[in-house]
Amino acid sequence: MALQLNVNPLPIETDDPVAVSNAAIDSGGLSESFNRIWQKASAITDDIAVVESFSHMIAFRTGEGLVCFDSSGTGTGGAVVEALRGWSTDPVHSLVFTHGHIDHVGGSGAVAADAADRGHAAPAVVAHEAVRARFERYQQTNGWNNHINARQFGGVSKKSNLGIGVGPDFLPADAMWPTVEYRTSHTVTAGDTAFELFHDRGETDDHTWAWIPEHKAICAGDFVTWVFPNCGNPQKVQRYPAEWAVALRKMDDLGAEWLFGAHGLPVQGAERVHLVLDSLASALESLVEQTLQMMNNGDSLDAIIHAVSLPHDAIKPWMLPVYDEPEFVVRNLWRLYGGWWDLDPSNLKPAPRSAVAHEVAALSGGVDALVDRALALAEDDIKVACHLIEFAVQAEPTSKSAHSARAEIYQIRRDGELSLMSKGIYASAANESKAVIDG
Ligand SMILES: [Zn+2]
Repeated sequence: MALQLNVNPLPIETDDPVAVSNAAIDSGGLSESFNRIWQKASAITDDIAVVESFSHMIAFRTGEGLVCFDSSGTGTGGAVVEALRGWSTDPVHSLVFTHGHIDHVGGSGAVAADAADRGHAAPAVVAHEAVRARFERYQQTNGWNNHINARQFGGVSKKSNLGIGVGPDFLPADAMWPTVEYRTSHTVTAGDTAFELFHDRGETDDHTWAWIPEHKAICAGDFVTWVFPNCGNPQKVQRYPAEWAVALRKMDDLGAEWLFGAHGLPVQGAERVHLVLDSLASALESLVEQTLQMMNNGDSLDAIIHAVSLPHDAIKPWMLPVYDEPEFVVRNLWRLYGGWWDLDPSNLKPAPRSAVAHEVAALSGGVDALVDRALALAEDDIKVACHLIEFAVQAEPTSKSAHSARAEIYQIRRDGELSLMSKGIYASAANESKAVIDG
């Protein structure tokens, strides 16, 4: 599906996350400063601070210490704790994991170390019960997860210090494991402040979001991230678009004055909170409805991914497809409601790709002809060019000229994409071919 974006610059220059957020929502303008990984703490109210990072830490001051949501990632946790301590030196009463992704739990070892250094008791670590199973899965699939994150974030500058590939363990050995686990809902009380935790599936099967009535605030975890919902990720396990929308609708019913996502900017005021929650839910609901309608009609995956689309004005500044993208959500819906087979009978029990590639190369007049045609198409139909160049290298995996063309074609493809996930995968394909040429 093709996406077109209206890009207006944001009519404001400030570091204040709430001011940037208000300006973005009120003007519809865009800025590169929606997701800032700079480990800075901002006091939002007297009792609430946000440390913007690779997953933020949202901290609440209570009469019994701090209640913090998420610990940021493996490489950023230490700086996030340092920033938090610039705002408050109170003990951390509870650390809530909104879910078990590494960018949310990887910094928890730094939270534990800080408590020990200060002579505080270790905080309670509160999470949905499926976080434990996720941690166990990460240990079983450590190599796989290191590979996919290297690809997913392969185009990200090292300066951003995401902590990707910090050590051999995808889940760091010093990560804190949950000490308080719940299934559907749970209330954490600290001092006089109640934190009502709810479980819904969305990006993950282990998600927690919270309602804090005293502050009329929602901590949304990754249900709200200021990018298009990460609900299609091609290299990760199943995601849940319809349930994601249901959770957003539940949040929207609360009349919150503050909405804190685990990425992106705080949202201030009931009207803006409603606008953000409603638009995100509507986009997901539209993808679910269109996809299910076509599946119920008996259409193939190929037909569906090329037909389903969102109206241009459905994509708001706080949900640009610069990380994940709607087409991948459609694929996840197919996997969730259907299966892995795409309705193409030749794909049910396919021949080795190299066997098909040899036939295609022979029919084309040889690998060189395939390479020439792929290069000729690179400008006008990059998608078809990618298919042809794959046939070329599958037919002749050691051909330096085929790999040279492949590196060039995937670099062009990468440069034309918006989403980090597409950019990462195409860049890694280009790099594979460069390695063959250099080798
Ligand atoms: Zn996240």
